[in-house]
Amino acid sequence: MRDEALFEAIGKEQDRQNHNIELIASENFVSKEIREAAGSVLTNKYAEGYPGHRYYGGCEYIDVVENLARDRACELFHAEHANVQPHSGSQANMAAYFSLIQPGDRIMGMDLASGGHLTHGAKVSFSGKLFDSVSYGVDRETEKLDYDAIRKLALEARPKMIVAGASAYAREIDFSEFRKIADACGAYLVVDMAHIAGLVATGYHMSPVPYADIVTSTTHKTLRGPRGGLILCKEQYAKAVDHAVFPRMQGGPLCHIVAAKAACFYEALQPEFKEYIRNVCINSKALAKALEEEGIRLVTGGTDNHLVLADVLNSIGVTGAEAEKALDEVNITVNKNAIPFDTTKPTVDSGIRLGSAAMTTKGYSEADFTAIGHMIGRVLKNINDDAVKAEVKQQVLALTEAHPFD
Ligand code: PLP
Repeated sequence: MRDEALFEAIGKEQDRQNHNIELIASENFVSKEIREAAGSVLTNKYAEGYPGHRYYGGCEYIDVVENLARDRACELFHAEHANVQPHSGSQANMAAYFSLIQPGDRIMGMDLASGGHLTHGAKVSFSGKLFDSVSYGVDRETEKLDYDAIRKLALEARPKMIVAGASAYAREIDFSEFRKIADACGAYLVVDMAHIAGLVATGYHMSPVPYADIVTSTTHKTLRGPRGGLILCKEQYAKAVDHAVFPRMQGGPLCHIVAAKAACFYEALQPEFKEYIRNVCINSKALAKALEEEGIRLVTGGTDNHLVLADVLNSIGVTGAEAEKALDEVNITVNKNAIPFDTTKPTVDSGIRLGSAAMTTKGYSEADFTAIGHMIGRVLKNINDDAVKAEVKQQVLALTEAHPFD
């Protein structure tokens, strides 16, 4: 008997995705091929271990799939070794850390309010609980990374490992500077490129691979693959990384997701993907410009990548939470986000984070993103005006109808 309650909810989510402008910077829409791989019979298979060295029989085709994924990841990022098994970005980070350092060791990552991720040392995450965590932030004036300040802190704190990378930072990160800082204090360097992986793959962001001891990523953000994690490293760390993923942190890999990662890397190696990322960057700049024209202040004053962090509270007097809710009402999906030196509670936040990756996949142009920026401005400056909201919602629906995607 068909599970109506479940499939009704999935159908409604499909409908929501079809009729919303999705601006969550960490989301994207995957291809039919990636969905086909992720929904394939590979979900039935246990395959603990690695190609050629499994703890289960019947893994000959799984080996082919995992080798395709590993080889393509190495080709895409010019890496010496890839582990494609982490179930998520957080787990990729956990395995990366455990392949270099021990519980109790000192780590140094970007703090949450400045744009870092939970797993970069936040107290509520394993990274802040198992390790002695010290955080660096951004400069109060520029709201950008200040490498001299980070170096000073690193030389004082002497961490065993530095984590570079972010979830809400709109500017290019200079990994060569982080390498110099890590060398100056004798630390390992892990780069978490989850957000910018698609930009790195196509040359629209400096690659961390030549500089970091280990690079981690998710596969589902700008890289436009299935939800999952990825680790890249130099050959000297290959054994330690593989052992940290399995058996230390995980059991069997999600073979269907490994297959979907292989499909993702294949797509990212095609020339069309480079064109896609070029458009992602053009579109986020168009969105940023329109928001500024609406009088909304952007953290760091702009963007170099796929995302924009908007300080709505201090520019137009609307909290991040209020903005998220009002935009939801007109079918525009964003998330509230802390801004550097935020003084509001995490349930309120002063900002919203917006990204261009998902709607660029649906074919939205620079002009569409300009229009979206102005729609957002209109709604947020008339947050209690139902007539304005109704009008904008019609504009949103017209845009979504004009860009069908399946
Ligand atoms: N690293 C960064 C920089 C992220 O932004 C995220 C997720 O947003 C993660 C890691 C964690 O990924 P996951 O949600 O797959 O655990």
